[in-house]
Amino acid sequence: MPLYRDEAVVLRTHKLGEADRIITLLTRHHGQVRAVAKGVRRTTSKFGSRLEPFTHVDLQLAEGRSLDIITQAETLTPFSAGIGHDYDRYTSGTVMLETAERLVSEEKQPSLQHFLLLVGGLRAMVSGERGPGQVLDSYLLRSLAVAGYAPSFDHCARCGDEGPHRWFNPSMGGMLCVTCRVPGSASPAPETIAALGALLTGDWAIIEATGPRHLKEASGLVAAYLAWHLERGLRSLVYVER
Ligand SMILES: [Zn+2]
Repeated sequence: MPLYRDEAVVLRTHKLGEADRIITLLTRHHGQVRAVAKGVRRTTSKFGSRLEPFTHVDLQLAEGRSLDIITQAETLTPFSAGIGHDYDRYTSGTVMLETAERLVSEEKQPSLQHFLLLVGGLRAMVSGERGPGQVLDSYLLRSLAVAGYAPSFDHCARCGDEGPHRWFNPSMGGMLCVTCRVPGSASPAPETIAALGALLTGDWAIIEATGPRHLKEASGLVAAYLAWHLERGLRSLVYVER
């Protein structure tokens, strides 16, 4: 069987047979890959805990007829160690993994930007320097943008008229001017709209200067935007306290 190497973040695992697992990975060069880890549930497994969700690993894989088989795994960054003991970081991180899996649904389609966003987001989540909710919101907006669903927080999403505008509607792609606004649009506070723009561009000076009430309002709008653009809601998002 032909072998290949790649680095990856483990998104999800599930049991296969007596001792094996299927590991869902977001790889640097091959996009999403589902591969079999043989014997990984035995205590003598050479992979140990290297193939748990959140772990950033260097892998060797053998191409299989249906699923590839993991033949070597070395830990590059043990993100699970920094995330698993903190409820907020764990629940937010789980939403990131689930979002990555949903946005990169096609197997073996290279998705380098998604991979880099996920590794960067997990690194920020583990460092603890920033609020887990804001790391998550920033990751969600940026990965939606990479997937082709970039929201507009300044120009009107419908006519392109220069902002700032007052109305926000997820189904229309972001902010709307007074002419284009549709029934049911939200009218967030100007500070919230500025925070949303900063979350999308990663402008942490603005995010850190934003008060909790506006950050919370921003989180609600990010969740609404994400829900609109994914066909089914995320199972894990309901556990994030906002
Ligand atoms: Zn307009």
